[in-house]
Amino acid sequence: MIRTLVQPTHVLIPPRNHQQIPEFNLQSKEQECLSLLKRCKNMEEFKQAHARVLKWGLFWESFCASNLVATCALSAWGSMAYACSIFRRICEPGTFEFNTMIRGHVKDMNSEEALLVYADMLERGIEPDNFTFPALLKACALLRALEEGMQIHGHILKLGLRDDIYVQNSLINLYGKCKKIELSYAVFENMDQKSVSSWSAIIAANASSGLWCECLMLFCDMNNDGFWRPEESVLVNVVCACTHLGALHLGRCAHGSLLRNISSLNVIVQTSLINMYAKCGAVQEAASLFKKTADKNQLSYSTAISGLAMHGQGREALELFSEMLSEGLKPDDVIYVGILSACSQCGLVDEGLQFFEQMKSEYGVEPTIKHYGCMVDLLGRAGLLIEAYDLIKNMPMKPNDVVWRSLLGACKVHQNLEIGEIVANELLKSNSKNPGDYMLLSYMYARTGRWEDVSRVRTELVEKGIYQAPGFSSVEVQRKIYRFFAQDMKHPHDDGICDMIHQMEWQLKFEGYVPDTSQVLLNVQEEEKRQRLRGHSQKLAIAFALLNSSRGSPIRITRNLRMCSDCHTYTKYISLIYEREITVRDRNRFHHFRDGTCSCNDYW
Ligand code: ZN
Ligand code: ZN
Repeated sequence: MIRTLVQPTHVLIPPRNHQQIPEFNLQSKEQECLSLLKRCKNMEEFKQAHARVLKWGLFWESFCASNLVATCALSAWGSMAYACSIFRRICEPGTFEFNTMIRGHVKDMNSEEALLVYADMLERGIEPDNFTFPALLKACALLRALEEGMQIHGHILKLGLRDDIYVQNSLINLYGKCKKIELSYAVFENMDQKSVSSWSAIIAANASSGLWCECLMLFCDMNNDGFWRPEESVLVNVVCACTHLGALHLGRCAHGSLLRNISSLNVIVQTSLINMYAKCGAVQEAASLFKKTADKNQLSYSTAISGLAMHGQGREALELFSEMLSEGLKPDDVIYVGILSACSQCGLVDEGLQFFEQMKSEYGVEPTIKHYGCMVDLLGRAGLLIEAYDLIKNMPMKPNDVVWRSLLGACKVHQNLEIGEIVANELLKSNSKNPGDYMLLSYMYARTGRWEDVSRVRTELVEKGIYQAPGFSSVEVQRKIYRFFAQDMKHPHDDGICDMIHQMEWQLKFEGYVPDTSQVLLNVQEEEKRQRLRGHSQKLAIAFALLNSSRGSPIRITRNLRMCSDCHTYTKYISLIYEREITVRDRNRFHHFRDGTCSCNDYW
């Protein structure tokens, strides 16, 4: 038996020790072995090749053994179990073989095994190299194993591999996935040389921590640094950031860049674009992009369905759903969340109840708390408060805050203090830190003139140290975003906002608008209530946009809190008087105001 006792390295091992095997030309046999392995297309062919290599007595030649393991572990058709069995027979595996095994396990998403192979490698005294770490760090990133990752970072420093760009990129990625963004930056900023992948890694790290503004700023820095080579992974994160920030203009630019630079967008990219357009208020663009998507899958359908639902286009959402079924795609739990919320947004109670029944009986999708939440929302919005309350009491799981909160919102809209108080107490009992719960309850008390209860709830809010984030509205004017807070009449961009508000109100009154002072939760005089209403952030944003944008151009507003019904009525009138299309996105949905009506048909 022929054995070479060479220490394999990470490169393919050149044939050695020819003189030991004079009976045939080793080099040509090695070449034959390599080309045999290259031709393998499946495990069957691979096993035959393996048998040939054994027959030639070449397995103990490390070049052949290494290539056998690598082919079996890293090919798309390969088998890690089989690769392991070959690996175990190698007497003295070296760095190359260990690296192969680590990479193979990571490819199979078997990160724990990869870490075990690394431990084995260290135990046997085999020194890792720069090819070991990218795969190993990826395994840690997949496991979110920060501690192990930091230990490995220590080994990297010890081995003097800190300047290897692939290792650095993998470290940025690992710390990003573990939400240790400051550690990602520490690596990124110490790099002598950055590649597109380094920028991509730091942008992705910010994205996994939800730091969307930072993503866009880094994207600009990257362009300024001259590292601009449009790469799908970077652009996808940029599209995702735009989705979260409602930055339609930049989102469109990213879309353009994708179209110019990537020959065919895959379904994942297409879906993230559909999501971006829908969440940025451009539902038409989302719909037409969806139509153009080839090979639609469940995810693209569910994105389009929830997009339509958000915009109050429930009927269209249901049509898509039947289209999906007719294409033979099976609905999953995510799609049912979209469908049920479409029914809920549009008041389709009977349809909603039917779908809720059907999901389990026909498609075997077990309803989760999210589905129950949608049903409570559906019944609550329709004013079926008792039915909604009964549903919560009979749920197979413990109701969470979200479920209670949606019923509380419904109690507010339908002015049912009796159930409202029960629900609010459930929420406060669960130690809710959500100021909105207290506000809703105090609103209901204020509505019925129970001012003592109002101040009791308010005091509780202060005593528990719960902070109510101030309401604001942002508006995009000439590609810039301006933010307005309620009652903030001294805005830096104030020029004439106050005058504009007065002018608007004068015209509104002429059309028959009466301020709904019941929306003000203060026990103060009517005139002061009117003054408070006037200062709602949405109105300031509209006044600013009317002053600073060209006639007839659409106005897009994003709010952090739900809009009050007075702002809703007010905006309807404005869209009629000033002939503007106004889109408002609040936490849950979009309102499209046009010609004095809203797309929600006042059902929200
Ligand atoms: Zn308002
Ligand atoms: Zn509306």
